[in-house]
Amino acid sequence: MTYAIEELLTRSYDEWRAAAGKLVFETRPFIDGVFTDAVSGEVFPSTSPRDGGVLAEVQAASAEDVDRAVRSARTAFEDGRWRDLAPKERKRILLRWAELILANAEELALLDTLEMGKPITESLRVDVAKTAETIAWYAETIDKTYDEVAPTPGDALALVTREPLGVIGAVVPWNYALLIASWKLGPALATGNSVVLKPAEQTSLGALRLAALATEAGLPDGVFNVVPGRGEVAGQALGRHPDVDKIAFTGSAEVARLFQVYAGESNGKQVAVEAGGKSPQLVLADADIEAAASAVAWGIFYNAGQTCNAGSRVVVHASVKDELLAAVRRITACTFRVGDPLDPATVLGPIVDEAQLAKVLGYIERGTQDGATVLLGGNRVLAETGGSYVEPTVLDEVANTSVVGQEEIFGPVLAVVSYDDDSADNAEGVRLANQSDFGLVASVWTRDVTVAHRTARRLRAGTVWINTFDASDVITPFGGFKATGAGRDRSLHALDAYTALKTTWINLA
Ligand code: NAD
Repeated sequence: MTYAIEELLTRSYDEWRAAAGKLVFETRPFIDGVFTDAVSGEVFPSTSPRDGGVLAEVQAASAEDVDRAVRSARTAFEDGRWRDLAPKERKRILLRWAELILANAEELALLDTLEMGKPITESLRVDVAKTAETIAWYAETIDKTYDEVAPTPGDALALVTREPLGVIGAVVPWNYALLIASWKLGPALATGNSVVLKPAEQTSLGALRLAALATEAGLPDGVFNVVPGRGEVAGQALGRHPDVDKIAFTGSAEVARLFQVYAGESNGKQVAVEAGGKSPQLVLADADIEAAASAVAWGIFYNAGQTCNAGSRVVVHASVKDELLAAVRRITACTFRVGDPLDPATVLGPIVDEAQLAKVLGYIERGTQDGATVLLGGNRVLAETGGSYVEPTVLDEVANTSVVGQEEIFGPVLAVVSYDDDSADNAEGVRLANQSDFGLVASVWTRDVTVAHRTARRLRAGTVWINTFDASDVITPFGGFKATGAGRDRSLHALDAYTALKTTWINLA
């Protein structure tokens, strides 16, 4: 039985709990088109943050399993079973896959919500719907992308063609498990590569289901493999594998650097990394405060703050700080209901696991030790459920250079930094906004269009929003400056990330 997303969005809490009880989990690695036992015989638990219960024991891929997956991907690449198919045939298969993702929205959304704790409505609207959209969008590029002919003299013809790189190792985090995987899979598969995906430990089940659907859609065996497993084992084995041509990584800045080391110490494979942020929302004195406050609250509390581009720092002109924070408190109180992510009324679900919850609470404590004041929240809640829930939290009077002003908390904790500078170019506000090792996104809030553009140019971030936040789509590139990373996901530019240019020079003399 399949249901449309619109229909699923009308379901009750009881209906979702009943549906969750009927789920059957596949826990084995997916290699060469089939689920297969991991050689290691080791397992790790997939634990639900909604109640702390163990959903399943997932088979942990070892280096040997990763090697099997890479060999399968290599064989599929070399014999051309995917890259040599007619472009419109590859397009048809990927479009069919996108349809199957939507047709299986109920199961995929439940897996995401149970494993990661995202409210079920957001798993449907964002993770499932946008994953299907991303795959379909890249499918549509396949028979519309042309190569080039260089402007040679008349006695030669030079073709400049894009060729797939070969075997791509995709390593992804848990916060948008399916969607971020689709940002790699869409362009990598559209351009004819094979992929070995290493999902995060917290979210293996959805990735495994995604691969089975790809095979059902007609993707040839070996073209897309999934190796669930521990980062330091399966992730490292993929990063060090001598027959992987590129690693496409999204996750923490620390692990991103490990992949650069793995590449340097193995075969010098390409490494694209998308790491975290401490992204500023810069609110100038003339901003529309009500609109800015709503964006500030959504920017940090959406997905319980577990978003790489969370607006986790607000840099606000001192003259409007009190008004802004009063509005943030009001909006938060009436919008961000904390609760079971299977309840459609929940807006703020749990933190992904106990370890991450402890980290978030530790940061709140550290912030107060360093002089910040807790303006809102600050505590663990609903502990009796066994789940890992925390209140939406606002830390005021944060020093920008302090730990909570600089480090990515990855929880619903807003750091408020104020500045007092009435110069025309808001130099102090811009300086504070840019004073970060990261550079993923930033926003500026002002009613003055000239100031908005001038400020946007000076903000060092991969995306700058003016009078909005988190407006985003597959049509625009996504990635960051500085320690946030190298490379961009999404948009047509991502096709370049999975291809190499080849020149074929023909003598016509
Ligand atoms: P993480 O870096 O701990 O893990 C990411 C992936 O790397 C997982 O699959 C994990 O198993 C693997 N890994 C962990 N240790 C490894 C090791 N030693 N060797 C090889 N692989 C290893 O990140 P996370 O906790 O899953 O996700 C949260 C982080 O991801 C945050 O920092 C967040 O900002 C970032 N993120 C960035 C973006 C972006 O596009 N910039 C998007 C989402 C999340």
